[in-house]
Amino acid sequence: MPLLCKECNGRRFPIAFPEQRDALWLCEKCKNFVDIKDEFVREWTEEEIKENKSKLENFQKDVTTEKTPEIKRRSGVN
Ligand SMILES: [Zn+2]
Repeated sequence: MPLLCKECNGRRFPIAFPEQRDALWLCEKCKNFVDIKDEFVREWTEEEIKENKSKLENFQKDVTTEKTPEIKRRSGVN
């Protein structure tokens, strides 16, 4: 399995696409996908990068909220 990127030696992540039988392996650094045989498939599109970024931002927001439960409770006076 193409767990490591040939170009930067970074970790690749399997991304599943509904229209494809096998997952593609993404390198976030080189911004490209390879298939299970470690062959280049395509670039990581601008749209997908943006989508990924907004997901990450949402995740970070959630984490921050969870870390400050006291403030949340105080503001929510019954
Ligand atoms: Zn890479």
